[in-house]
Amino acid sequence: MRIIDRLNEDRIHISFEVFPPKTDEGFEKVISTTDEIAKLNPAFISVTYGAGGGTSKNTAKIASHIKDDLHVLSLAHLTCASSTKDEVRQVIGNLKELGIENILALRGDIPEGMVFPSDNRFRYAYELVEEIRRHGDFCIGAACYPEGHVENEHKEDDIRYLKQKVDSGVDFLTTQMFFDNDIHYNFLYRIREAGITVPVLPGIMPITSAAQMKKSRDLSGTVFPRRFLSILDRFGSSPAAMKQAGIAYATDQIIDLLANGVKNIHIYSMNKPDVAAAIMSNLSEIIKA
Ligand SMILES: Cc1cc2nc3c(=O)[nH]c(=O)nc-3n(C[C@H](O)[C@H](O)[C@H](O)COP(=O)(O)OP(=O)(O)OC[C@H]3O[C@@H](n4cnc5c(N)ncnc54)[C@H](O)[C@@H]3O)c2cc1C
Repeated sequence: MRIIDRLNEDRIHISFEVFPPKTDEGFEKVISTTDEIAKLNPAFISVTYGAGGGTSKNTAKIASHIKDDLHVLSLAHLTCASSTKDEVRQVIGNLKELGIENILALRGDIPEGMVFPSDNRFRYAYELVEEIRRHGDFCIGAACYPEGHVENEHKEDDIRYLKQKVDSGVDFLTTQMFFDNDIHYNFLYRIREAGITVPVLPGIMPITSAAQMKKSRDLSGTVFPRRFLSILDRFGSSPAAMKQAGIAYATDQIIDLLANGVKNIHIYSMNKPDVAAAIMSNLSEIIKA
């Protein structure tokens, strides 16, 4: 089943994300994590894509396990900056053979020291979207950035390029993490004004430790509101308290999104089934209402 058909249903959908192991040794652990997350009955589970080697190979393996063994919709991420066009075509062919219908098309970060752009690589995600379209009837998702992408100084350019990406064949968008819902509402308003009409899944990251907060900030450049920083100040040194507070903060963000009419939400569950389960438990009655 195509994820877009599910997202268009008139009910709430919560999805989760897992990332593949860095080495083959960690594979079984990620599989058992995935199995736990599948028990939460998510709309789909997405599997991230690393910059080459074992990690990228494992994305397809985990995505087919989710689809074939757990009978849950899977979304395989695919990046293009770190691979040649031919390598990317091979991965798309492999996904097609495995019957994976849903791909999140991404440029990926540019590996340090790489000469980029170059003729034998796709430069932007929209070129990857066009390539995937040439290979068959995939449902294609892409990334968007409520606070703007870190490489782009001008938010209006970012939205113009996002429109170009969506017009090249994107069915839905998932946002970068954000911690202030007003930023998301403002972004939604601006992209709708720009004529982008596809479903947008807000990406919610439950922050359960001070180290994770620092990593997330460095990676995405996201702004942490004062309310979040107070939580970190007060509870950051107590792992159990910070975890509980981080789950509560993410739950609160989700409840606000749902109350404001958002139907589809993606949770960056980061291979933590206990965190995913705690959020779902907090939402148990809310999702039914
Ligand atoms: C939901 C989500 C999932 C992700 N999953 C992964 C993952 O699994 N693996 C991974 O490695 N990374 C992942 N990332 C990170 C992502 O790969 C990086 O943020 C990357 O730097 C940009 O990828 P993109 O697909 O958004 O690129 P693009 O859409 O190509 O945009 C990249 C930059 O180029 C600019 N741009 C786009 N088109 C044009 C144009 N025509 N002319 C000039 N400038 C242009 C954009 O404004 C932006 O600044 C994810 C990000 C998100 C939000």
